[in-house]
Formats: sequence, structure tokens, C-alpha cells
Amino acid sequence: MKKNITYLKDCYGCGVCVKACPTKIISLKETSDGFYAPIILEQDKCIDCGLCLRICAFNHDSVAQDSTSTDSYAAWSNNPIVREHCSSGGIGFEIGRWAIDNGYKAVGVRYNPLKNRAEHYIASTVEDFMPSVGSKYIPSYTAEAFDEINLKEKYLVTGTPCQIDSFRRLIRQHKKEDNFILLDFFCHGVPSLLLWDKYTSELKEKIGNISYASWRNKSTGWHDSWAINADSTENKGTPGWKVFYDLTTNEKRHAYHSRMSEGDLFYSFFFGHYCLNMCCHKSCKYKLESSAADIRIGDLWGNKYKNNEAGVSVVLAFTPRGKQVLSDLQNLCTLVSEPLEVSTEGQMKHCAPMPAIRDKVIGQLRSQKSLKEIKSGLIFRYNLRFLPGRIINKIKRTL
Ligand SMILES: Cc1cc2nc3c(=O)[nH]c(=O)nc-3n(C[C@H](O)[C@H](O)[C@H](O)COP(=O)(O)OP(=O)(O)OC[C@H]3O[C@@H](n4cnc5c(N)ncnc54)[C@H](O)[C@@H]3O)c2cc1C
Ligand code: SF4
Ligand code: SF4
Repeated sequence: MKKNITYLKDCYGCGVCVKACPTKIISLKETSDGFYAPIILEQDKCIDCGLCLRICAFNHDSVAQDSTSTDSYAAWSNNPIVREHCSSGGIGFEIGRWAIDNGYKAVGVRYNPLKNRAEHYIASTVEDFMPSVGSKYIPSYTAEAFDEINLKEKYLVTGTPCQIDSFRRLIRQHKKEDNFILLDFFCHGVPSLLLWDKYTSELKEKIGNISYASWRNKSTGWHDSWAINADSTENKGTPGWKVFYDLTTNEKRHAYHSRMSEGDLFYSFFFGHYCLNMCCHKSCKYKLESSAADIRIGDLWGNKYKNNEAGVSVVLAFTPRGKQVLSDLQNLCTLVSEPLEVSTEGQMKHCAPMPAIRDKVIGQLRSQKSLKEIKSGLIFRYNLRFLPGRIINKIKRTL
């Protein structure tokens, strides 16, 4: 039996093994649960080199980082337009801009409307990097972009902490760490693509084919910015839709707009943890300061900035390289040194707890049931169990 990634179950789906394999026999596929996973179709061509397992973060207990001290800041872009359109303070975009201006290519994640997916891509100009702005709260397809990266050139690579941990192992294996700046973020987890597929197929019935989607919007303030916006080729400018500025095209858009605070169904499923990737529940070793990146970013949700509605990022630098980048950012951004208790307040300390109905929810996402039906049936009945008896009786009487 050859020792390769075939034996891993419920891995991160980071796709770095696709790049690592010298015989190019690994590809990244979507599983029936709606997550990416590597697959080897031609086992007989495997030369048993073990590289895929060596660079695989899922296959190791520890994180590939040697950080000894962490610099911690609250941060935001000095450019109000950037700050308004990024998820928190816009620090991710400013690091990308700095990297491109300093001879790096920047690898970010964009939404691809033709494939209705989030995907990594390589940007060589600041304009190319704009579609990476804003978090896409679904798993990102990495394989094509990672495969195109030339390890002899200079890149900023952004991604989830598990993607970045494998990527760190790959460049260490090839002794090319000096060419790279790695950036990850505090990571809640990624939901099944089945959720996104169902959400968007229901949306298409209302607005037509989707030409644009985003997951955050600060029009009612940063603390209420969990909102799906979408635009369609057929239905631009429907009266009553929200108007917002799209940093990816430099245009104003009229778009479908659905907020978590008003019951948006994508966010109900995502933040209820009803269909997260199994590894996000069982094998995530990347909470708080645990990272293989040079720099980690996130939303600074603590008490100190609770009245700030423009958006504040937390940014941590772990390595001398990360610290150097932040010191070079001083003209583009405001960086306020904060103790870790302040900068990481509100971040998850452990893996997301797994609701007992997680597999059933994923099964129903595969069925013809609508999201509303799943929520008002399976999920509603599950949550009833946590309510005191008197409230359940009251609901029964009302029903
Ligand atoms: C799935 C997911 C879970 C997250 N969970 C948390 C959390 O628990 N706590 C927290 O504080 N922050 C979390 N974040 C990060 C947060 O949403 C913001 O990215 C962060 O506040 C930085 O904002 P920004 O305005 O500086 O940059 P943004 O403009 O939001 O830049 C984000 C960067 O992340 C990359 N990216 C976007 N989507 C993906 C994706 N699907 N996969 C890989 N890389 C991606 C982009 O290339 C970009 O460079 C999460 C992000 C994602 C994508
Ligand atoms: S062991 Fe080597 S050849 Fe075989 S799949 Fe892994 S990387 Fe490819
Ligand atoms: S929660 Fe952990 S395992 Fe899940 S995508 Fe994020 S970094 Fe990877």
C-alpha cells in the first residue's frame, strides 16, 4: 500500500498537496457533503515519495510556526473608502496593496459568478487585487491558483489558517520561505457548499443569474455588517434594493440585500454551526495565536471598540517578516498597539461545538427541501429541546 493522502479522512481540503505532488496525480474535488477534498485517480502512478503527507497540515499534530513573540494591534486603513468596503478595518487589502507596490504578487480570494464559488487567484496589480476585498464565508477552491504559483518569485499568500499551515510546509520543504509573506485570519469555520448552492438557487428564482455576491456590508454599521448582497445580469436596479458601492468594479450597484439581523437564512445556518466542515469541529488547531502565518487579521470585536461602526481590524504579527510589513504600513494605516486580551477579545478559543443534527442538516441540504423548511422543521425541533418546558408549552398552545 502506498503512503499518500488517500488515507486521510475529513481533511482541511486546502489543496496544497495538488501542487506538491511531483507526478501531478492529485486533484481537488467537491465531496457529497459540500467540501473540497483531494483525490488520487491513478494510484498506480504514485511513486510513494510521501511529499503530499509531509506538507499536509492535517497530517501533523503541531502548527508549522516558530514564533516566539507576537505584536498585537488594533488597525484600520487611513483610506475611508477602503475601510468602508472591507470586512473590518481594511487591513487585509492594505497589506495586499503594500505587497504589490513592493514587487510581490498577491494571492487572494474572489467570488467567481460563472462557477458560483470562492476561489484563490493571483493578482499582479492593485486593481486585480480588489475582488479579494471582503470575506467570502464559504470554502475557497485553491488548486488552480496554488498550482500557478512560481516558488522562485515573491508572493503574498492569504487564506484560512489551515490552508496557510500546509502552504508554509510546502515552501519550507522547497527552502523558499524567503520569497513569501503568509497571511491568515481568525477563523470561525467554513460551511458546506451545499448551503451556498441552495441559498443561491433560491435567490436565482427571485433575481435571475447571479453576477455578483458579497458577504459583508456596513451600510447599517460594522456591528450589523453580516449581510449577503447579490446582483444579477437580468435584474439590475430593481426599485427598493439597496444601493452600495462595489469596490471590485468601482461602480454603484443596486442589489439584493439580506441581513443576518433580519433573519437571513445563510447566516442562520452558518452561525448556528449546522453545516460546518467536520475538521472545523474536530481538528482545528488554529485558534487565538496559533498560526503558521507571518500575519493574522480579524475583526476586533472587543469592548474597547464597541462603539466604532466604521470597522476595526485586529492584526497580529508573529515573525520578523510580519513585523517588518506592519512597520512599513504606518503611512497607509493606523496601528494602535493593544494587549492580546484586548485585540483577541471575543475570538473563538476552541473548535465550534457540533450540533447533534449536523449530518442530518447536510443530508437535508442535499434534498429538495428549501432552507426555510429545514430551518422551521429539523432545526426548530432540535432547538426546542433547549427551551424550558413552560416556553415549549406556550409555543405548542400558540401553534
Ligand atoms: C471563512 C471565514 C471565517 C472567518 N472567521 C473569523 C472569525 O471567527 N473572527 C474574526 O475576527 N475574523 C474572521 N474572519 C476574517 C474576517 O471576516 C475579515 O477577513 C477580517 O476582519 C479582515 O478584514 P479586512 O477588512 O482587513 O480584510 P478582507 O477584505 O475581509 O480580507 C480578507 C482576506 O481573506 C481572504 N479570504 C476571503 N475569503 C476567503 C476564504 N473563503 N478562504 C480563504 N481566504 C479568504 C481574502 O483573500 C482577503 O485577503 C473570517 C473570514 C473567513 C473567510
Ligand atoms: S506520495 Fe508522492 S507521488 Fe504519491 S500522491 Fe503523494 S505526492 Fe504524489
Ligand atoms: S476553522 Fe480551522 S479547520 Fe476550519 S477552515 Fe478555519 S482554520 Fe480550517
